[in-house]
Amino acid sequence: MRSKELSMQVKQAILRLRKQKKPIREIAAILGVAKSTVWYILRKKESTGELINAKRPGNPQKTTVVDDRRIISMVKRNPFTTANQVNNTLQELADIVIDSLCRGVFAGDSRQLSLRSCFPFLYEAERHKRSVVLGMVATGDKTPPLDSPLIHRSKKEKWSQWSLRGGMQTLSDTLEAYIKDRGVQIHKDTPVEALHWQADGGWQIKVPGGSMAADHVISAVPAAVLSKVLPLNTEPMTNTLREMSAATVAVVNLEYDGDVLPVSGFGHLIPSFEGDAMLGIVYDSLAFPEHNRRGGSSTRLTVMLGGAWFESSLGDPDAVSKEVLLSLASTAAATQLGVKETPCRTIVTLNKSCIPQYTLGHWKRIDHLFSYIRQHSLPLSLVGASYEGVSVNDCIYNARKSVKRLLGC
Ligand SMILES: Cc1cc2nc3c(=O)[nH]c(=O)nc-3n(C[C@H](O)[C@H](O)[C@H](O)COP(=O)(O)OP(=O)(O)OC[C@H]3O[C@@H](n4cnc5c(N)ncnc54)[C@H](O)[C@@H]3O)c2cc1C
Repeated sequence: MRSKELSMQVKQAILRLRKQKKPIREIAAILGVAKSTVWYILRKKESTGELINAKRPGNPQKTTVVDDRRIISMVKRNPFTTANQVNNTLQELADIVIDSLCRGVFAGDSRQLSLRSCFPFLYEAERHKRSVVLGMVATGDKTPPLDSPLIHRSKKEKWSQWSLRGGMQTLSDTLEAYIKDRGVQIHKDTPVEALHWQADGGWQIKVPGGSMAADHVISAVPAAVLSKVLPLNTEPMTNTLREMSAATVAVVNLEYDGDVLPVSGFGHLIPSFEGDAMLGIVYDSLAFPEHNRRGGSSTRLTVMLGGAWFESSLGDPDAVSKEVLLSLASTAAATQLGVKETPCRTIVTLNKSCIPQYTLGHWKRIDHLFSYIRQHSLPLSLVGASYEGVSVNDCIYNARKSVKRLLGC
């Protein structure tokens, strides 16, 4: 059985082979164990320095409803399953789910990321229910306390994802048209070069070829950019902003003639033991059929590569060719989904430092930034993916909160 506790010799053999730089796939094949088990042993050794399973106290209750169901199903399949096997399986499962989730949402490495900042609902579930796995299925309604006809509709129709008929660009286009109609000026392709804090309490914003004045700045640029444009006398803040990193992701869109996907669903995530650089594949044509090409069926896939593993697996982002990325993506579609046809259309995009990494201690950094702004009465609001959530939903929600705070409503 997959979760059987391995002998110490096999565990040591895993470490030995890894030292010889053998990939997880090969180690698993040599030793005849599951890839996830090899990955789990390596990770355990890395994080605890131990190879033996820790002895646990007899109480309090450690299992959850979900755990119990899983145990029952394991024992039904094999009535001779031991307690150690059960324990290993549950731990392995939680680790694989978290590993994949971090790769899917943050393109990040779960060993570096802060569960508390990346997935606050899971953090709360672990604290209150003692189980991350249970937290995933029993977090209850975490919808922010907002109300609108759209929220009602999304709840009624049980949306798990949303897009816009004309693609996500429609959102910025519509916002742009809306605020322009109300007299707002937009300066496109005008990077902010510096923010100067004036003696009279206002900002001077330096842009190419000039500057403009502002009473309040709402910064939606990535933390690393903000750290470079803030004035020198805000050094404690810029130091914190500089500690906040972001991962690079290559996105490869593949389109095939006809309906070539043998599976259904939104997509799949690839745990790190299956290959560091390959993060996951979204089945766009199934997830959002409204975006499909008109006049004849087609299959659209999005393959995500790199993230926290970009440099170690693919090298310098500036040196990786689009051909290599395309070839990796097409191969993944062929080997993981059986889609062996030649795509009729492809787009390869390299997004440098595009997903903020909420690494361990992120919440302390956020706390420091917001306290600094408050204590120094800086007319500055921080919004965008660098701080309190990387998804579009998070960005919209937090921007709205910020504006409400600013307007006092
Ligand atoms: C591959 C990938 C897939 C994703 N998939 C999803 C998904 O399915 N669902 C979801 O909810 N989210 C997804 N996201 C996250 C989503 O893209 C982010 O939530 C969103 O883009 C963050 O918006 P933002 O405005 O904070 O940052 P950005 O979109 O990064 O915008 C920052 C802006 O700042 C500008 N800028 C930089 N420097 C300056 C300067 N000096 N002066 C002025 N402007 C400057 C940049 O040009 C840019 O326009 C994905 C992200 C990636 C990379």
